[in-house]
Amino acid sequence: MDCVFCQIIKGKIPAQLVYEDDTSVAFLDINPTTPGHTLVMPKAHHANFEEIDEAGLAAVMRVVKKVGQSLKDNLGVAGYNVYENNDPIAGQIIPHIHFHVIPRYPGDGLELWPQGKYESGEAEKILNKIKIN
Ligand code: AMP
Ligand code: ZN
Repeated sequence: MDCVFCQIIKGKIPAQLVYEDDTSVAFLDINPTTPGHTLVMPKAHHANFEEIDEAGLAAVMRVVKKVGQSLKDNLGVAGYNVYENNDPIAGQIIPHIHFHVIPRYPGDGLELWPQGKYESGEAEKILNKIKIN
C-alpha cells in the first residue's frame, strides 16, 4: 500500500502543486501552519534522512530553496522556516521524507522550540559522544 505522499505523486489523490520536476515535488500542506505552507519531497519513497542518498537530498534542497524564494517574492514575506520531522519521535507522521517550508508573517503566533541550558560539564560529555571525526 502506497503512502499518502506516493499517492499524490502518482496522481491518485489530488494536491495543490507548487512545483514539480523529474525527482522532486512541492505542494501545499492541507493543514497549513501559515498561508503558503508548502511540503517539498523526493518523488521516490524514502522514509527519512537515513534512507535518502546525498544526490536525492541535494535535489530536494534545491527545490526547498526555489519554494522559499517564491514565498518571499510572491507572498511578500520577509522569511520562512524549513522543518523536517525525522522519525515518529520527532513528530514525523508520514514516513516519506519531506521538508515543511513555512512562510512567516508578523504576529503569526508560531513559536520556536524552547531553549534550555547545559549543566556544568554536560556539553563536553555530549560533544564527546557525537563529534564526527
Ligand atoms: P509530518 O508530521 O512532518 O509527517 O507532516 C505531515 C504533514 O502532511 C502535515 O503537516 C499534514 O498536514 C500534511 N498532509 C497530510 N496529508 C496531506 C495531503 N493529502 N495533502 C497535503 N498535505 C497533507
Ligand atoms: Zn511515499
